[in-house]
Amino acid sequence: MPPPPAGQVRVQNLWMSVDPYMRGRMMTRESYVPPFRLGEPLEGGAIGRVDSSACEGFAPGDLVQSMLGWREAFNAPPSALTKVPTTGLPPEALLGVAGLPGLTAFLGVTKVVKLQAGEVVFVSAASGAVGSAACQIAKAAGATVIGSAGGAEKCAFLREIGVDQVVDYKVEKNLAAALAAAAPQGIDAYFDNVGGVHLDAALQSAKPFARFALCGMISQYNQIEGTAIQHMRLVVTKRLRLQGFIVSDDFDMMPQFVDLMAGWVASGAVKIHQTVEHGIENAPAAFLKLFSGGNIGKMLVRVST
Ligand code: NDP
Repeated sequence: MPPPPAGQVRVQNLWMSVDPYMRGRMMTRESYVPPFRLGEPLEGGAIGRVDSSACEGFAPGDLVQSMLGWREAFNAPPSALTKVPTTGLPPEALLGVAGLPGLTAFLGVTKVVKLQAGEVVFVSAASGAVGSAACQIAKAAGATVIGSAGGAEKCAFLREIGVDQVVDYKVEKNLAAALAAAAPQGIDAYFDNVGGVHLDAALQSAKPFARFALCGMISQYNQIEGTAIQHMRLVVTKRLRLQGFIVSDDFDMMPQFVDLMAGWVASGAVKIHQTVEHGIENAPAAFLKLFSGGNIGKMLVRVST
């Protein structure tokens, strides 16, 4: 990597994020974010350190956040960078609980379903980056939380972070029956990260007027045709409200959210958990693990130290 030209800085990436939405960018179809372009490096959230500066306001050693992702080092102008704020959090938390996944969880719980103390919420992919943040934010709001995840280790993790009822969807043959048993009075809200049979189970357990935050449908991302939802008619009969949302619509909230999350982490209300793969050569494997369930908490790649 040559020294930075005038007006740019050279950044050595320390951490990069792999996220399920990147799967959608690997197809040519209409979406809220354009597809990756053939022959160009992939993009995504990353935290790096300035190692050479040819512009005012940045000095070697400064930590910066970028959306350039998947690369070890790069030259860029200040417009492509945000300085990492001083929060007391480890810098990589800005890619996890105090970053895009955390803000997504916060918006789904507070703005979309407007979860109230005493309510029952079901969260799918509950041990992942968004899901584990959603569970802990919901607990902090005084709700009862039911989380689903695949495997005993993930279910134990969910209990550790305070989830009230845990459903191992890889063991349960009938997810709808398992959810109904976990929530005998029904659910007031559903935070959907998975779609498919999870969404169908939630429709069946929903109380009248329940609210659904449709955050993601990871079970569908590698399917050419989606799974048919058998119980959509219940949206009408139970007068449910289903709302999709995209975190980037509310990026302007990020600075105040980072402060809020730093407070929750400091008080112990939210625990940081991440799965780390080492070396840029392992970034593709880290990405694929999102779809086989190989992560607990935020999946990160440690690019250098
Ligand atoms: P996670 O950390 O949750 O990783 C993905 C997890 O999904 C895996 O660990 C796996 O857990 C689970 N999973 C994968 N395939 C399946 C399947 N077929 N059925 C059930 N579970 C599956 O990723 P994120 O927290 O980053 O993202 C979670 C969801 O949130 C995704 O759907 C993503 O697209 C969405 N999202 C939406 C945003 C928005 O703005 N609307 C922003 C960010 C994320 P397990 O082992 O339990 O199966």
